[in-house]
Amino acid sequence: MGFYLGIDFGTSGARGMVIDEVGIMQQRVIYPFEMYPRVDLANIWQMALFRLLDQISGELRREIRAIAINGTSSTVLLCDAVGNPVDAPLLYNDGRGAVVMDRLKSAAPPNHTVLSTTSSLAKLLWMSQQAFFTQAKYFLHQADWLAFLLHGQLGISDYHNALKLGYDVETLQYPQWLEQLQISIHLPKVVTPGSAIGEIRPEIAAKYNFPKDCLVCAGTTDSIAAFLASGAESPGEAVTSVGSTLVLKLLSRTRVEDVRYGIYSHRLGDLWLTGGASNTGGAVLRQFFTNTELESLSQEIDTSQASALDYYPLLKPGDRFPINDPNLQPRLEPRPDNPVEFLHGLLESIARIEARGYELLQELGADKLTRVYTAGGGAINDTWTTIRGRYLQVPVMRSMNTEAAYGTALLAMGRMRE
Ligand code: ADP
Repeated sequence: MGFYLGIDFGTSGARGMVIDEVGIMQQRVIYPFEMYPRVDLANIWQMALFRLLDQISGELRREIRAIAINGTSSTVLLCDAVGNPVDAPLLYNDGRGAVVMDRLKSAAPPNHTVLSTTSSLAKLLWMSQQAFFTQAKYFLHQADWLAFLLHGQLGISDYHNALKLGYDVETLQYPQWLEQLQISIHLPKVVTPGSAIGEIRPEIAAKYNFPKDCLVCAGTTDSIAAFLASGAESPGEAVTSVGSTLVLKLLSRTRVEDVRYGIYSHRLGDLWLTGGASNTGGAVLRQFFTNTELESLSQEIDTSQASALDYYPLLKPGDRFPINDPNLQPRLEPRPDNPVEFLHGLLESIARIEARGYELLQELGADKLTRVYTAGGGAINDTWTTIRGRYLQVPVMRSMNTEAAYGTALLAMGRMRE
């Protein structure tokens, strides 16, 4: 029997999942990040990685054939010639790049994904102006550096993590405009997510009893890993995450980009993973109802009847997808006295926004929607699933699995190598 290990580095902790050859979970391990004063973040990640390996049962470890790691998109760091970080990593939401936007705009094509204050490239440009930059040799993403700790090779990334660094995922090379920025750093060599980088370092194999030929594979980002976990794999299949916000992802043979709506595509083998995110979603429901109320009131809704209430549920003005209007006002009136009717109106309205989102992706060239998997807090609501099915006109079901670590274990197993 061979096993595969997926490791997910999130914002609050790290998780590992071991699966067997048919994708059945064998063990799940968790290591919440504890913040120690005077211990820097990269050290905490390193500790978390090895504590996770420690927690996996010896029997499984002996037969792990491949390992992959996913990190948080746009969490990056600089390291020296032997892989030691030269300064603290910059986290996904760090906006220090704001000061280099003018320089970035003068080089990158208009509306490019890198033109955001939190993009990996904005962070790298900011870093290049700091004193510690002189000690830096390599720029890496979180997942790249953690994988390096296992395989020992510096300067390698994958094309999911590298998208926001400006890497051209269509032609599979760094674009010429990036060279104009003249950043004196070793940019990572970019490979296919899940492709084998090398065998695990012999000293780690010996210490933890991994097979000597256990492979360490190129990783991915957290959100793509969660998509891979869902079970969606054919063009037209989609995953909606109904969490605090509403996030749509549709697998397509065509690449779709439209910066007005915040739509861009990740490469997934021969396919493209396109999508958009709306500010509507569960956070608005939470403003009016507890989770218990959501559950009990939903059961009283007659799903065969469409609600006449037409809302645009938002916490504050503004949405980008599927309506691009920074001043779009929340529409939550008229509010009926009966909470069941009110909730019915809210669930239907969010379902309409979701359906409009998929319609927009298809209008822009994505494949025809055939099936929608659901992740996030709203996935457990069967009433809502029925309502969404009425608007989406395709089968709607829960994701097989929603954990990024599971998707990354599938990646290690070779989902993208096939
Ligand atoms: P996040 O995006 O913050 O990770 P989750 O995926 O955990 O969010 O989902 C939380 C959301 O799910 C909450 O905003 C809550 O309103 C919503 N939610 C929880 N239970 C239900 C339910 N039974 N029906 C609909 N929505 C629900």
